[in-house]
Amino acid sequence: MKEQHYRAVIIGAGQAGGPLSTTLARAGWTVALVESRHVGGSCINEGCTPTKTMVASARVAYLARRAAEYGVRVGDVEIDFKTIRKRK
Ligand SMILES: Cc1cc2nc3c(=O)[nH]c(=O)nc-3n(C[C@H](O)[C@H](O)[C@H](O)COP(=O)(O)OP(=O)(O)OC[C@H]3O[C@@H](n4cnc5c(N)ncnc54)[C@H](O)[C@@H]3O)c2cc1C
Repeated sequence: MKEQHYRAVIIGAGQAGGPLSTTLARAGWTVALVESRHVGGSCINEGCTPTKTMVASARVAYLARRAAEYGVRVGDVEIDFKTIRKRK
């Protein structure tokens, strides 16, 4: 493998690392962004509550629509986006 050199090596593509690497690259730096687990870091993938409440609502809707497969009868499943946003 060919050796490469960077002006900055940023460890972690989370809330901090992503924007920092973009800013440096836009300023003309050569940048390597290293991520070991998931791009976006903890906020996007598992943390920040607002998105996760919406993901939870999506999961409930998904399961409710599959209720019959689990032997559970429910009526039509509708999304009330206003309530989802209010809960968020
Ligand atoms: C449950 C929870 C809920 C939260 N809710 C909110 C909220 O509602 N609002 C809010 O503003 N903030 C919230 N936060 C906080 C927010 O997620 C953090 O403040 C933010 O993610 C910090 O950004 P960061 O880049 O410093 O770290 P992170 O986003 O954690 O990113 C660090 C990255 O570095 C990577 N990494 C670590 N070590 C290495 C290594 N050796 N090599 C390569 N990669 C590595 C990790 O995999 C990770 O992707 C919440 C956090 C949690 C855990």
